[in-house]
Amino acid sequence: MEVREQLHKTLKKYFGYDSFREGQEALITQILNGKDVLGIMPTSGGKSLCYQLPALLLDGMTIVVSPLLSLMKDQVDSLRDMGIAAAYLNSSLDRQELLQLMDDIRYGNIKMLYIAPERIENEYFLSAVRQVNVPLLVVDEAHCISQWGSDFRPSYQGVARLYDLLGKRPVVAAFTATATKEVQEDILFQLRLQQPFQIVTGFDRSNLEFIVEKPADKMRFLLSDLNPNDSSIIYCSTRKNVESVHKKLAQKGFAATLYHAGLPEAERQANQEAFLHDRKPVMVATNAFGMGIDKSNVRTVYHYNMPKNIESYYQEAGRAGRDGEESRVILLFSVQDIIINKLLNSKTNDGEATNKLNKMINYCYTNQCLRAYIQEYFGEVIATQDCQHCSNCLNKAEQKDITEEAQKILSCVVRMRGRYGIQKIISVLQGSKQKGITDYGLDKLKTYGQMSKYSDQALREMIGVLIADEYLQVVGDQYPLVQVTQKALSVLKEGGKVAMSYALEETGDRAAKQTGKGLYDTGLFDRLRQLRMELASEHGIPSYIVFSDVALHDM
Ligand code: ADP
Ligand code: MG
Ligand code: ZN
Repeated sequence: MEVREQLHKTLKKYFGYDSFREGQEALITQILNGKDVLGIMPTSGGKSLCYQLPALLLDGMTIVVSPLLSLMKDQVDSLRDMGIAAAYLNSSLDRQELLQLMDDIRYGNIKMLYIAPERIENEYFLSAVRQVNVPLLVVDEAHCISQWGSDFRPSYQGVARLYDLLGKRPVVAAFTATATKEVQEDILFQLRLQQPFQIVTGFDRSNLEFIVEKPADKMRFLLSDLNPNDSSIIYCSTRKNVESVHKKLAQKGFAATLYHAGLPEAERQANQEAFLHDRKPVMVATNAFGMGIDKSNVRTVYHYNMPKNIESYYQEAGRAGRDGEESRVILLFSVQDIIINKLLNSKTNDGEATNKLNKMINYCYTNQCLRAYIQEYFGEVIATQDCQHCSNCLNKAEQKDITEEAQKILSCVVRMRGRYGIQKIISVLQGSKQKGITDYGLDKLKTYGQMSKYSDQALREMIGVLIADEYLQVVGDQYPLVQVTQKALSVLKEGGKVAMSYALEETGDRAAKQTGKGLYDTGLFDRLRQLRMELASEHGIPSYIVFSDVALHDM
């Protein structure tokens, strides 16, 4: 029988599907040809099938390294339902079960063994597994191996040791949904993949509507937006938030449950089950919930707090609409989210994490198509700039072209040689006669006074947009300086356009208007200042750290 035909037959016979999804057939064929592979496919793209099907066709026992107990159990249960001899090895087995499993392995009774990374060097396991043929080693959720990723697990780094412990090096197949270029490189390196076949299938999830909201009262927004009959996940950044959001929803009569690492294992399991079987269709959880969860009918994923990077965000958002039906992902953003994240980062002082956080913040402030922003972040070829399916594209009507203003601001920054902060730039544009301007000769610049009819507030907002869209960047910690980026050239020289989400008034007090969109609203500004004082005194964090870090986005 021809190979292709055999693959399709197996697909139909065991899995009941008529056709492969994007990337599946290529990955499966390469694995069967003995090649290492790295498959990068979006959440619910169908990664499991890419290794389960070859496992059926290969002689011997396939090993699948998988990070979560619940995930292993679900997969093994469904494989057994299909009549496939699957088993798992993790900390949930008692001694009796472990010994029985070792016998099963030795006698060749197991076709697919799921294993937790911590168990790889278990002596019983090693001695049993050496007696059988292992044609394929699968590393699922392979981003866990990388410190650059969002779910780093040190135990994953032991996976490559298994190659030497087995008699013969198996074909290695790694899979993940979320991988920036660095993480991809790191996976290849850490797993020592040999000239692997790599495939990245479309990241874009066309059935998801991406929405960023900046409600004054998040809880109120949630209560009015949440459909009690639909399945939803609400992600919160802390256990405390999970508890309080869950409590309020329950009080209002929503069938909601909760999940976070602080709950006892049994309770977590029970809550997860209640959600999966729609007894409680609303799940309030920290990011501890969801990796590998295959619930098809989640209609909305809310982020009650802004996640710490786009990787985490996209992975969590991707749990909506796995059945392909129209679904929404809604990020509820507030300035406090920035502060909390910046504070957490300031403790570790991790530059990489700060960069990633800034990209996340920019996502909340950009006026670009949100889809395009995400694709660009992951280094994808941008499919669209106008998806008509994200809150920015849908609100385009309210956008104003600020290209001319942007050109003035950018050329002012160029002339100021990137040596000044936002306030100075504003003063120069307005033509201020302050000492700090005239003393430095800044009043001699060609751009001096060119935007004198704009208020402080209006200029701040425009500069904010230019930062968010990365025409400008802020560098330096204690004294943040504003500089132009490479991208600014497109506006200065190549006729690129810049838009802003709401009409600008040239003068006058904008604070009263409360569009809810600006980080630079006067109300927010004061609240921010107050919050920083509190944080500095409550947590004993030196105030200059709080001030300078937060200053990046609120000067
Ligand atoms: P992930 O890539 O997130 O690991 P899964 O392997 O859990 O995704 O697959 C997601 C869903 O897609 C599952 O319900 C699976 O049965 C289904 N699926 C996978 N491959 C196909 C296919 N070729 N045709 C139809 N459904 C598929
Ligand atoms: Mg999976
Ligand atoms: Zn869009």
